[in-house]
Amino acid sequence: MRMILLGPPGAGKGTQAQLLTDRHGILQLSTGDLLRAAVGAGTSIGQRAKDVMARGELCPDDLVVSIVSKRIDEPDARTGFIFDGFPRTVAQAQALDRILAEKGLKLDAVVEIRVDEAKLLDRIENRVAQMKARGEPTRADDNPEVLRKRLAAYRAQTAPLIDYYASKGALRTVDGMQGIQEVANAIERAIES
Ligand code: AMP
Repeated sequence: MRMILLGPPGAGKGTQAQLLTDRHGILQLSTGDLLRAAVGAGTSIGQRAKDVMARGELCPDDLVVSIVSKRIDEPDARTGFIFDGFPRTVAQAQALDRILAEKGLKLDAVVEIRVDEAKLLDRIENRVAQMKARGEPTRADDNPEVLRKRLAAYRAQTAPLIDYYASKGALRTVDGMQGIQEVANAIERAIES
């Protein structure tokens, strides 16, 4: 299965992608994680991405598309993948269409996790509190000021993907304001439909 999880920061894409991975044994492919790893390793991609990410803006399409294209060629992606945080612009979605067509692959589902934006700040604050309680390092971009920028980037650049995939008849929408398990069940129903 190959699918996309769409939704603003804090919608629960990472949590739901992890549950889908556990249930279906397919790879979670988070461009945010790949970029953070590149920043941590100090690669040339990481150097290009670091300041952009810290500001809560989107990294250049060409950079993100190239890491995704390489990643889906790896053996662990053969049985499928769940994109979490990709595509984030219409240009990325078009590039993904081209890449998949070249590789003879198809998308099975695009699921939008719809949330009440007013509640997102609370969710991010909870996520930070939980990570701190577990002694994990917190994300530099998980703070109210940068979150506002990430939300603005979502509205301006990523939300148009909802129409992009709806017009292809590929979009399924689930209510992301329910509990984690309820959202997971709704996603299962959406990908079966
Ligand atoms: P995330 O972990 O998905 O919230 O992503 C964290 C940050 O990484 C974003 O705010 C962007 O700066 C960058 N990023 C992740 N995925 C993408 C993408 N598909 N396109 C552009 N920038 C991205």
